[in-house]
Amino acid sequence: MINFTEIQDDGEIWEFFARDLLEEIGFQIISSPDRGADNGKDILVSEEIKGNLGKYKFTWLVSCKNFSKSNKSVNEKEETNILERMKSAGADGFLGIYSTIASSGLNRRLYELRNTKDIKDYKIFDQKIIESYLVKVGFSHLLMRYFPESYRRIKPIHLVAEEYIPLKCRECGKDLLEAWYTEPGRSIVVFVRRYDEERDLEIIEDIYWCCKGACDNKCQTIIERNGLLTGYEDIDALILPSYFLEWTISIMASIRAQEKKYSDKAFEQLKLFTLILSQRVLREMTEKEKESVQEIRNLPF
Ligand SMILES: [Zn+2]
Repeated sequence: MINFTEIQDDGEIWEFFARDLLEEIGFQIISSPDRGADNGKDILVSEEIKGNLGKYKFTWLVSCKNFSKSNKSVNEKEETNILERMKSAGADGFLGIYSTIASSGLNRRLYELRNTKDIKDYKIFDQKIIESYLVKVGFSHLLMRYFPESYRRIKPIHLVAEEYIPLKCRECGKDLLEAWYTEPGRSIVVFVRRYDEERDLEIIEDIYWCCKGACDNKCQTIIERNGLLTGYEDIDALILPSYFLEWTISIMASIRAQEKKYSDKAFEQLKLFTLILSQRVLREMTEKEKESVQEIRNLPF
């Protein structure tokens, strides 16, 4: 999904990216790569761990390796003197930020060090883990800054309102917008309909969204029990900008032609759905554009 070769070097830029990523996740940066930590390259970060009786500070020695060009895994020969580096930095755990993966040899070495209690813990953020962070809400600016081409292709979720609004499945509560990146083609928006014969009119009673399969079946059963009909659209199709626009216009047209009537509940849901989906369909605004929006909102009518 993300093309890690957009960062060409295995040096400063990758280290700055690693630092920014960890900061965004919530780690406290103790020493940045530019301040010359041990070996000149390792970063030291910390986090608070909650124990039963109090909070404890846990420090991680962060080792950054970008082998995306060769697409090779990071092996134990490239990750030398782990123990010495950790001791001189006074770190509790080892954290690898790799654009590829750790070799099985390196994984074994780290596992042994933890087993013998030489290190308290280790974690590897490999390409899959880094990717799963970058498509999350709040990380899109990092993706835009460090991987501009991938950003344009992936179109991560971004804020439209003050806060992110998840697209929660009516049945299981999963955020369908975020889940799309790992399991596309698995969600739908459902229009619950009733035909009013007297008025020759279709009434949309409700709109909801859910996972395909089991969640959909459960919701359907309840609706059919109430004698209502349903129609659905794939969310995969609706996140395509031109289709999203066509769909929105067709709803406006059907309301104007008085072919369909929306209940208050359905109309509220329709507005909410449009807002939530816009977090994916629209592009991210620049700071300047955000300011302009504020200015326009403040204009007197
Ligand atoms: Zn579900």
